[in-house]
Amino acid sequence: MNRVPKNLIIAIDGPVAAGKTTAARLLAQRLGYCHIDSGAMYRALAWKALKQEVDLSDPRSLLGLLAQTALELRPAAEGLRVFVDGEDITDVLRLPKVQAAASLVSVHPKVREELVQRQRQLGTHGGVVMDGRDIGTVVFPHAAVKFYLTASLEERGRRRYQESLQDLGTLESTLEEVERRDQRDMGRAASPLKPAPDAILIDTAPLSPEEVVTQMEEHIQRKLKS
Ligand code: C5P
Repeated sequence: MNRVPKNLIIAIDGPVAAGKTTAARLLAQRLGYCHIDSGAMYRALAWKALKQEVDLSDPRSLLGLLAQTALELRPAAEGLRVFVDGEDITDVLRLPKVQAAASLVSVHPKVREELVQRQRQLGTHGGVVMDGRDIGTVVFPHAAVKFYLTASLEERGRRRYQESLQDLGTLESTLEEVERRDQRDMGRAASPLKPAPDAILIDTAPLSPEEVVTQMEEHIQRKLKS
């Protein structure tokens, strides 16, 4: 096995519940890299907008809010902790209403531009595994290695349902929500979700997170050799 240089950027994109964030965290651990969950940045903005009752459909107000927001991702033993203005809000970011709001704030091109700037700054020195929807296509089009994780809608709906039983939704309503978010991510004009032409596609449905990451490491090794 070749040693992986310490300064690469590795991009992981894919639809909701494809297993991106878990894979990104594990891969970063194995490589000694920093994991950056770009979705957490959209969620954090959405959380603050909900808290301050800012209109989620108004990009100017959202941009104003973002300008006054200190957003920090701090690595911790169990994964990233997300801080907004110094407050640890990691646990509330998984709430369904925050997820739904994140999907709405992420459609605005100007909001995306600002968050993309912040994501690029975080990746300036490399040594980063970043996951999201547009990392290989927009944020880091020159990333050393790009992955696009997929799984069927049914599989992703089932995973999301198992993760969020406390939400009291049904499997059917969870599937509908996943499908709605797919349509919003893939159908928006600004940075729609799609695989970069040079992305490596991995179907995560039959694989454990460890198996996904092992496949990723094999692809990285192959890429380094070539
Ligand atoms: O990945 P996660 O589900 O945490 O992302 C939250 C929301 O932010 C998603 O619904 C997605 O629409 C949006 N997002 C995005 N671009 C990214 C990361 C997330 O539009 N790079």
